Amino acid sequence: MKKVLFAESDKEFVDVLFSFLIMPLGTIVRVLGKQSQMGCLDEVYKSVEDLSADFFQTKACKAMLLKPLNAASRHCRRLKINVDDTKPRAVYVCKDTSCCAHGDGAFSSFPDAVCRCGKAMEYVGDALDEGDLALTGGAREIISLLKRSLMSKQPLTGLYFDYTITNDDADVYVLPEKQNDADQKLNIEKIKVLQTKNNSLLYVEGDAEFVDLLFGLLSIPLGSIIKAFGQWPPSGCVDNLWKSIDHGSGEGSVRPECQSLLLSPMAAPFGSGAAKVLEVDELAPTLDVNCCFKCFKTCGFAETGRCRQQYYCGEMVKTTKLCELNPKAPKGGNGNGETYVKGGHMKFLVTDDLHVLPLLINHSTSSLRCKCSDRGA
Ligand SMILES: [Zn+2]
Ligand SMILES: [Zn+2]
Repeated sequence: MKKVLFAESDKEFVDVLFSFLIMPLGTIVRVLGKQSQMGCLDEVYKSVEDLSADFFQTKACKAMLLKPLNAASRHCRRLKINVDDTKPRAVYVCKDTSCCAHGDGAFSSFPDAVCRCGKAMEYVGDALDEGDLALTGGAREIISLLKRSLMSKQPLTGLYFDYTITNDDADVYVLPEKQNDADQKLNIEKIKVLQTKNNSLLYVEGDAEFVDLLFGLLSIPLGSIIKAFGQWPPSGCVDNLWKSIDHGSGEGSVRPECQSLLLSPMAAPFGSGAAKVLEVDELAPTLDVNCCFKCFKTCGFAETGRCRQQYYCGEMVKTTKLCELNPKAPKGGNGNGETYVKGGHMKFLVTDDLHVLPLLINHSTSSLRCKCSDRGA
């Protein structure tokens, strides 16, 4: 078998490789057509897709998981090939310049948000409007390389000689214990397990908190998962990218300010229990704009320069710090907006391969089993 020993590459190619680390897992699953083979994350992703919107706190919750915001997208703009096609942070504001909540400087990154004054927030543009890169030539190869790096120890060989992707390491693999007290934060008692006699697990009955943790994994960037567990995923070699930055084998090749960006990439604001458990920092839910709020409401990002012209705008302060509304908080509801799925007495059934289904009270055990095997067929 022919084999690529190493490839000599330019800075652009290395940048593209490193950008894999800042991609949220949900984005990787989506870009790879739900065939990422990262454990059972494809199943988790499909569960979010299939689960009715009624089970989520808000419409935005589903979008946050299926199209998680890349917290470092600002840095991806300069990439030659950006495989993360997620839209940059969209901005919605209340366009009423004499709104009673004007002083809040509130904005939303998701549609259907309502201002404290009661008016619907309207789209004014994307926080990173200019120059975001679309999928261009070569992107197909990079997506293939991403997939190979997750599943194979020889992704360059596979890509170069166009070998079919197979799972090199089909053995069951157990991740090393995470070195902190994360287990204590997760309330395992709330999970009911149905086990067969030969010790294999049939399914788990979990509450909203458990399901939320599972779903929340989709919003965590790959690099932060590798940081938490030291290695991941076992069949692939994408963790070597992380290690080559961490161990400084490329001393001087990564700018110091980019090092932490790649080694512990942040998650989007208002994330999840998963971010807390894995100790992943979140991007601040604020946004600085270079004009007063009134001008921003009127012109959006397009004409922030007009604010500086005296005949147009009399406001003294020419910058505004906008604060993002929690997209998980239901409109005028009393929910605390901490979780994606609605809490209460709702129970969920989680199969051994992490497919999540709502558990209806009158389901008998036999019908549950029936539903699971339907899934597998
Ligand atoms: Zn308003
Ligand atoms: Zn102004």
